[in-house]
Amino acid sequence: MSDCFILLAAGKGKRFKSKTLKQFIKYKNKPLFMHSIDKAIKSNLFKYIMVVTNNKIKLKNKKIKIIKGGNERYQSSQKALEYIKNNNFKNVFIHDAARPNFSINLLKKLKKHLIKNKAVVPYINTDNSTKYANKNKIINLKREGVLLTQTPQCFDFKSLYNLSKNNKSLVTDEASLFLNNNEKIKFIKGEEKNTKITKISDLNNIQVNTFYGIGFDIHKLIKNKKLYLGGNKIPFHSGLKGHSDGDVIIHSIIDALLGAQRKKDIGSLYPSNKNKFKNIRSPKMLSPIISDLENNNCYINNIDINLICERPKVSKYRNKIINSLSQLMNINKNIINLKGKTVEKLGLIGKENAIACESIVSISKYE
Ligand code: ZN
Repeated sequence: MSDCFILLAAGKGKRFKSKTLKQFIKYKNKPLFMHSIDKAIKSNLFKYIMVVTNNKIKLKNKKIKIIKGGNERYQSSQKALEYIKNNNFKNVFIHDAARPNFSINLLKKLKKHLIKNKAVVPYINTDNSTKYANKNKIINLKREGVLLTQTPQCFDFKSLYNLSKNNKSLVTDEASLFLNNNEKIKFIKGEEKNTKITKISDLNNIQVNTFYGIGFDIHKLIKNKKLYLGGNKIPFHSGLKGHSDGDVIIHSIIDALLGAQRKKDIGSLYPSNKNKFKNIRSPKMLSPIISDLENNNCYINNIDINLICERPKVSKYRNKIINSLSQLMNINKNIINLKGKTVEKLGLIGKENAIACESIVSISKYE
């Protein structure tokens, strides 16, 4: 038994006046709906991630299934539940693509409460004085009693499936379905930052700061060692000497990323006198830095790299290196540039006794 995350991304976004559908608009450096998918994957809580959309999208991940949605939100949700009804999922999380800012911690909290409940829904309170208009009468509501519900909302699969299957009324979330049928819901505190992107102006409310970082590295070439560049093994007469695998490209990128975040340098993270880092592969050194970047709401805008060597010829390995860097950093290939620079056979580098690399990165931090 396992859980499924359903992302509803079939909405038409009538209040969002833009040619691009809201869920596909670029938000914090990637399409809006991708934020939810990335968090669902990263949480490791789900066997399947279902994306319900009426647009053609392609996503390379075995966990992701894409299906066509309905006209209304509740119909899209119905379709997804119908699609997975024979998969024996214990629980299902349903989320609106328009809420990209929830935390993985919220997913974990919801899951914990599912042990004792069949429906768990996050909410926040309001600071506004609240009234309710019912026919011709307007009444005051106690604002402490007003729950503004959010998504992800999560449910015991069977309970939700049975309620949803027969529903024909226009409910705006699954919590309404449970309430309409007098079923119990466990409400838990949601997150203030987990707001819904509804209007174009919601996008403009984000404050972005841009930072730059520079990195340089050089390693000596020695015989009987494999050469690694940008995470790839490259056939060559020598390899780079170092405490690690000597990957100058990755090391200079790490220093550039740390520089942009004002976090000192690679040596302070991976001291060369520490045995546990001996022979460490450089992608392993890069990985926690990328996670840290994402956790701090930072995104890479572009990277420009100068690989300084007489040989190997950069043009021969450019695509391979860019592909692997893009995978290691979880970024698009087209924001990485790699230049080869020879030194007219001068000095250590010119005599193929060393390879150097310099990188510059730009990152955006979203507040
Ligand atoms: Zn190095």
